[in-house]
Amino acid sequence: MNNRVYYDGKAFELFISEEKISDTVDRLAQDISKHYAHINEPLVLISILDGSFIFMADLIRSLDLEVSIQFVKLKSYQGTTSRGEVAHILKLQEDIKGKYVLVIEDIVDTGLTLEVFIEELRKKEPAEIKVCSLLSKPEVHNNIIDLDFVGMEIPPDFIIGYGLDLNGLGRQLPEIYRLVV
Ligand code: 5GP
Repeated sequence: MNNRVYYDGKAFELFISEEKISDTVDRLAQDISKHYAHINEPLVLISILDGSFIFMADLIRSLDLEVSIQFVKLKSYQGTTSRGEVAHILKLQEDIKGKYVLVIEDIVDTGLTLEVFIEELRKKEPAEIKVCSLLSKPEVHNNIIDLDFVGMEIPPDFIIGYGLDLNGLGRQLPEIYRLVV
């Protein structure tokens, strides 16, 4: 474990340890398992790529539930075109009508991507949609969307590691690092 890592000439300092992440994932898994204990069908987990792939992989192995998993890849065009436009690079593969759906995010920053994606999911008429995010920046998104399961609330710093990247790099780091400004 390094106290500092460097990508693209920028320094990042250790922010959240591997142990703290693991404890947080376990707690989320317990909460989610308890919440869905009554449903007599697999819970549909929808992971938003790329950032959430490591979180998703760890979370599903700690859940005490039957699950089916799907991956989507979204690209949002905030600022360049109309507010809240989201292009699907990878679409849902299976019908979610009448199903219990839990969306898995790595981090909620402005919340815009998630807000638009959930609106689109609603049109597919699932029985229920809830959201789980490992990290949340409440000072940025001002709770514009409901997060049902949140791992940690963090300040509006830019972070990398545990699936999160800087220009494609740093995703493999087992810890989370924040940009030194
Ligand atoms: P939002 O639509 O909530 O503003 O953005 C969500 C996406 O932006 C996240 O899923 C993540 O991919 C990216 N993102 C937001 N904050 C950070 C951050 O601090 N570090 C990194 N690497 N990506 C972030």
